Order: sequence, then C-alpha cells, then structure tokens
Amino acid sequence: MSGYQTRQTAISAVTNYTPKVAPLNFAETSPTELFGANVFSDRVMKNMLPKDVYKSLMATRKAGKAMDPAIAGPVAAAMKEWAISKGATHYTHVFYPLTGLTAEKHDGFLSPDGEGNAIVEFDAKLLIQGESDASSFPSGGLRATFEARGYTAWDVTNPAYILENPSGTFLCIPTAFVSWKGHALDKKTPLLRSNQAINKAGRRFLGLFGNDDGNMVVSNAGPEQEYFLIDRNFYFARPDLMVCGRTLFGAKPAKGQELDDHYFGAIPRRVLSFMLEVERELYKLGVPVKTRHNEVAPGQFEIAPLYEQSNLATDHNQMIMTTLKSVAKRHGMACLLHEKPFAGINGSGKHLNYSLSSSTQGSLYYPGDTPHENMQFLTIIAATVRAVEKYGHLLRAMVASAGNDHRLGAHEAPPAIMSIFLGEELAEIFNQIELGDLKGFKSKGSLAVGVDTLPPLPMDSGDRNRTSPFAFTGNRFEFRAVGSDQSIAGAQVALNTIMAESLDFICDEVEKITKGDEKKLNAACQKVIKGIMKRHGHVIFNGDGYADAWQKEAARRGLPNLKTTVDALPAIIDPTVIEVFEKYGVLSRDELHSRCDIFHEQYNQHIQTESELVVKIAKTIILPAAIRYQGELAKTAANLKAAGIDAVPPALATITTLVKNLSNATATLEKLMDRNDYGSVEEEAAYKTSKILPAMLAVREVADAMEGEVADDLWPLPSYQEILFIK
Ligand code: ADP
Ligand code: MG
Repeated sequence: MSGYQTRQTAISAVTNYTPKVAPLNFAETSPTELFGANVFSDRVMKNMLPKDVYKSLMATRKAGKAMDPAIAGPVAAAMKEWAISKGATHYTHVFYPLTGLTAEKHDGFLSPDGEGNAIVEFDAKLLIQGESDASSFPSGGLRATFEARGYTAWDVTNPAYILENPSGTFLCIPTAFVSWKGHALDKKTPLLRSNQAINKAGRRFLGLFGNDDGNMVVSNAGPEQEYFLIDRNFYFARPDLMVCGRTLFGAKPAKGQELDDHYFGAIPRRVLSFMLEVERELYKLGVPVKTRHNEVAPGQFEIAPLYEQSNLATDHNQMIMTTLKSVAKRHGMACLLHEKPFAGINGSGKHLNYSLSSSTQGSLYYPGDTPHENMQFLTIIAATVRAVEKYGHLLRAMVASAGNDHRLGAHEAPPAIMSIFLGEELAEIFNQIELGDLKGFKSKGSLAVGVDTLPPLPMDSGDRNRTSPFAFTGNRFEFRAVGSDQSIAGAQVALNTIMAESLDFICDEVEKITKGDEKKLNAACQKVIKGIMKRHGHVIFNGDGYADAWQKEAARRGLPNLKTTVDALPAIIDPTVIEVFEKYGVLSRDELHSRCDIFHEQYNQHIQTESELVVKIAKTIILPAAIRYQGELAKTAANLKAAGIDAVPPALATITTLVKNLSNATATLEKLMDRNDYGSVEEEAAYKTSKILPAMLAVREVADAMEGEVADDLWPLPSYQEILFIK
C-alpha cells in the first residue's frame, strides 16, 4: 500500500470508529467487585487454604520469613481448584529474562491417565519449580549453550493470577529464573535479594532511633508509564516502527508540540475507550491503575498506578506494558513503548517514584511538619545524597539502552548527569547543618489562589523541578531517567543496594560516636550528616538541569556525564559496584560481568537491526519513490521542450542532487557496516556508537529532505504529521 492509500485507510478507520467493546456496566459489575477478580489473592487464599498454611505463607510474605516448603502442596491444590473454576486449562511459570520482556512457558493441566482418559495434574513440584530450556535467553556466559537448563522458581511473595484470552484462560505463576548453578538469569532474582538487603539495613537504621518494631522495611515503587498510541494502519506501513519500535526516517511536522495544546487536553474518544478497557483488564489483575492523562507530545499518554511494594509494582508494570500493547490492537491502534519513536518530538520515559517504608512508620522519606526536628528523616535524606553521589554512575548504567540514549539529555528528559534535587527548604536545612547551626526554616503556609470560591491550597515546601533526574517530591524520590520500555527492576535493585550500604555506613559512624548513649544521638547524626554533605553534597543541584550551564558546572563539580550507553555500561563492573553488590549478596562478580556483556550485546543487536533497516528502507522504499518523481519531472521537462517551451522544472535539479546524495550516504553506511572483526562486545558497541549511528543519521537527513520535495502522492511512508495527529 502506498503512503497515500495508507493515509486514506487510517483516516477512514479513525472517522468511522465505533467502539468494539461494550462499555462496562457498572450497575452489573461494580469496579470494587472487578478489582482483583482474576487474582489468587490473600482473600481467596484465606478462604481456601488450611489456617496454618495460610499463616505460614503470610509470614513469608509480610514478615520475610523463610518459606516452608511444606506449604507448597496445599497451595498448589487450592491454586489448581481456583484456576479450574476460572476456566483455566493451562498454567505457566511467568519470568522476566534479561531481554526485559515477560516470558511464559505454558503447560497443560491435563495428563493422560493411561486408560484413555485424562486427569488434572498440578502439585507442589510443578508449582515450586519449572524447568525450561534457557538457551534462547541471554546468560552472558553464565551457562554454556549445551548446559541449557534454566529453572523457574515460584515467587511466593507475588500472587498468581489468571490471564484471559478469547479462546480460554490460563494460570500465571510469578517466578524467578536461575541457572542450574543458581546464578540469576533474570530481573526478579536480584530484586528479591536487594529487598532482603534493604530490609536488614533499614531495620538497623530504624533501630538507631528506637523505631525498629519488628516490622519489615520495604521499598516501594510507583512507576508513571508514558506511551504513544497511533493508528495501526500507519504502524504496518512503517517497517521501521514495526521492527524497531521507532521511526528511522521522517521529517519534523510543521506543527509539533510547540503549542502544548495536547498536554492534559481532553482525551480523544477512541483513546479514552482504549484506556477504559486497559483499566478494566488491569483491575481484574489487581493492578491499582489510578491516573491517566495526555502527555506533552501529540499522540502521547501516561498511565500511573498507585505505588506498591517494589516486587509487586515491578510485575504489575510488566503487566501494564503487555496490556497496553494487546488492548491497543483490539482498538485498531498500536502502542509504542520505545523511548524515542519520533525524532524531534518528546520521547517517553518512566518516572520511578521510590520510597522506603514500614507498615507502622509509613514512608521513611516523610518529613513531617517540622523536618528540621526530624533527625531520622534528615539522616535518611543524607544517606540518599551519599548513595546517589557515590554510585551515580551505577544508576546511570541501570537506565542505559540504545533507545534511552535518544532521550536523556535531549532537553525533554533529565541529562545523563546524575544529580539530586532536594528543594529549597531541605537544601537550606542541610546548609544549616553544614554550618553547625540547625535552626529550621519557614513552615509550610497555604497558597492563596485569589478566587474566594476556591479553597486555599496547602503549599508544598518546594516547587517541582522537572529537569532533575532524582528529585525529592515530599515523601519519596522520583527517578526520572528510566526509559519507557525498560523494566523498573534494574533501577530498584541499584537503589535498594546502595541505600542499604549508605544506611549501614551511617549506623556504623553514629554508633562509633554514641557508643550506645542515646543522649548523644542527635549531635552524632548532625556530625555524620555534616561529613556526608562535605564529601557528597556536590551532587545536590536545584537548578535547571536542561541548561547548558549545568553541563559545565557539573564538570567543575566532578560529576560524571556519561552520555551514551557505551559510556555508561562499564559502571556495572566498576570495582566499587562489584564490592557493594557482593557485600549485600545481590549480584556476584560473575553475575555482574554477565549482565554487562548482555547489555552490550543487546545494544549491538539493536543498532545492527536499525542500521540494516535504514539501508533497506533507503534503497527499496525511499530511493525508488524519489526516482519515480525524478522520472516524472524529466518527462515534463522533455514535453515542455517538445512544445517549444524552454523551462526545466527547478525541482528536477534538486531531486537529482538528493538522489545522488542518498545513494552515496547509503553506500557509506553499508561500507561501515561491513565489519565483524571486533575484539569484544565493548569494542563493537563503541564502533556502533561512533561510526554507525552518525552514518545512519546522514542517510536520514537526505531522506527527510526528500520528503519535503517529492510529490505527496508518491511519498511511500506515512508522515509524522499524519501519524501523530490522526487519532
Ligand atoms: P506526578 O505529579 O509526578 O505526575 P502521578 O500522580 O502521576 O504524579 O504519579 C505519582 C506516583 O507516585 C504514583 O504512582 C503514586 O502512587 C506514587 N507515590 C506516591 N507516594 C509514594 C511513595 N511514598 N512511594 C512511592 N511512590 C509513591
Ligand atoms: Mg504524572
């Protein structure tokens, strides 16, 4: 189909849109009834499990007690009964390999009984452990391909659930994925390990202030997920979107996001209908989605759930991504999760709201009304400042990817420099501590809106700063550098581990001073905080992170500015990073090296695919269109000449030059790609960043110029304008 025809089809799909799914009748099914309907939840388990089994399971879940293998039998039996009552025929161990995707291996419940019939089979063994051929998942040398065995192990802490399909349903069991030697091959295993570490260090920290009451300290995540929605006709007419998730070509539209008229505007009807269905599906799975709105770019939206304990939030975020994609299809649209689907238009990220809490203390990042009197709060903030400064390079590495490289530092997302925003009030308090004179700050007032009928709004203690990668937002930190397509596990694994290390450091230092004397606690904390601010305080930056001046200032302060994935990834195997991960039993040296290799390989694969597609599209789609147009113009010129009119269309010369330039640029790229003698994955990645990416861009520049020259009805690819504005 030509671009022109595609456009017609898409316009008619949009204008003739009728909702395919009947709206949910809330009179029949209340949203509260719907919520968690497909989850093997605490409530279901309480009803179905023997009392002692339920109690033991909850002790593992809520108090971090070691799992008693004896519970697996009764749990499996109840799970089977529940799943079959929901129509499930299969069960699957769901796991999260290092590809960042969600993987499933389905097995039927039915087993032949040897007499021509079948029995339903599902027991403790099948629940606890699955074996799966792991050879097609990345392991980075942890497992030779001939030792293809990988094991999935039941994650007791997250609930099983049912996924629906028009042809049936199946039971999903969250699992960790490990090699036969116990090496982590996935995103979940280190997250669970880091949760153990933060619990231990967190409780020790609370103990310092007499606040350890035996409850677990957990990490929480509230990820705000951004995405693009486009008509599926456009998606299928753009091989680059289909294969790479982003456009490799496309001239900037006349109207972009400059007018900001999309952000928080009314949500288009078709999109709203999509969102309602997404929410309905996610409610059934117990995902507490809460917020929906338009984002900055045209065609861009956001969905955010209420925050949850990190392991659950991470599984739920994966479910959100899968659901967005599958529901979009049903509505004739495609959901793009890529960090930068359209050049020159804001990309998508995932703001990871992060906090530590206990069930009795709430968020440990909650300042209270008088933060300067809340030493526990001030100390944990100092611990965070220290962690982000000491391990900023690790945080940067955790969000490195080929896609995110297009976004970070592009004046739409935080720069690649890791800094921390505390806001005016906190910065002032820490300043006072540094000067040895802690006296507090103006207390929060209320904000007069100037309209008598509006209520006075409580004033936040500081304004928001959207340009900071790591910003304090009142009772949590918001890590804004995560890519929209990435799992949120990596960032949390890093945060939990470096926070554990920082909290332990503080406990050590404070205990050295107080030697158990409570009266010395306050002064000791101030002394330790003062030391931290002196050493690590330069990571605090409350100004404009997008400004060029910050790049210079950060360099002066000695903060690393790791601009690309290639610059960022080596941090994963930096000695200080290996040390902290090994100390807290989160990832071993071998596991870190394997991850570093895998992330490089993924990057290389990514760029390889993109560059191959650039060549293919340039040669087989764009160049032929330009040549056709050139032919038309040449014919016109000949006709004019035959009619005795001496006028060659000026466009002929322009297009002839562009055709030549495109051929040359493509040939240059091909020649650069013709290399495979790399000594290492790092070397290959560096080559791809410095040589291949610029050559791809050079091809694109000529092609995008052609888009402004070639006759509209001959142009083969739907334009940005069409893709983004037809909704
Ligand atoms: P924003 O104003 O940043 O766009 P949103 O309401 O879109 O805010 O998202 C904020 C996210 O932060 C939500 O997922 C919310 O549940 C989460 N959040 C709120 N409090 C905490 C907390 N203490 N810890 C972690 N996440 C939190
Ligand atoms: Mg938001």
